[in-house]
Amino acid sequence: MSHTTFSQKFTEAYEALQKIPPNHLNIMGCVDESQVNGPGSRAVVWVQGCFQECQGCFNPESWSFDINQLISVDTLAEKILSNPNNEGVTFSGGEPFWQARSLAKLAGKLRENGLNVMSFTGFTLEKLRSKTAPLGAKELLEQLDILIDGPYMESLAIHSPDSPVASRNQRVNIFNPAFQDKITWGSDQMEIHILKDGTRICTGYRGQMGLDE
Ligand code: SF4
Repeated sequence: MSHTTFSQKFTEAYEALQKIPPNHLNIMGCVDESQVNGPGSRAVVWVQGCFQECQGCFNPESWSFDINQLISVDTLAEKILSNPNNEGVTFSGGEPFWQARSLAKLAGKLRENGLNVMSFTGFTLEKLRSKTAPLGAKELLEQLDILIDGPYMESLAIHSPDSPVASRNQRVNIFNPAFQDKITWGSDQMEIHILKDGTRICTGYRGQMGLDE
């Protein structure tokens, strides 16, 4: 089996990201009214593409950077805002920060309309604040109320219905003090959404998005 080096993976990911038109996102999917991916009732957007390859990753279908579903920032904002039960939005993945510029624009539009914004990332906050952070990381960080940072590490897994993070290395960074006492969801909780076309999306278990028959 051939092994792909980090720089090869980075180059492939970068080339794939160039195929996303400006002000668009390549997403794996999204749902409304999730109760298990952050505080309150929220939309969740799973972006497509991550090359951390964490052992035990809850969403390996999200690793590919190939185009899955392209959606414009405006269309996605309208969709999320059309459901009055969405109090906030959570970005998951995949790695949200590889599409940070468009997510920052989406977050800005949602915040203008009163929604709060949270993101997961496999990067550490220190990396996202460094000179080698993905493009747009600073803009996206400025839009966030909460950031859960760090990759999932199976050897440090928590497996508790009361923990908002899935492994002990991950941190809940609360940028907006209004959320200090609202870190009440559990990463091991699970919920099933049945969409209008009959598709079922299972989510919540460590932030996963899974399609069910
Ligand atoms: S960073 Fe997240 S999406 Fe990426 S491999 Fe790790 S657990 Fe999976």
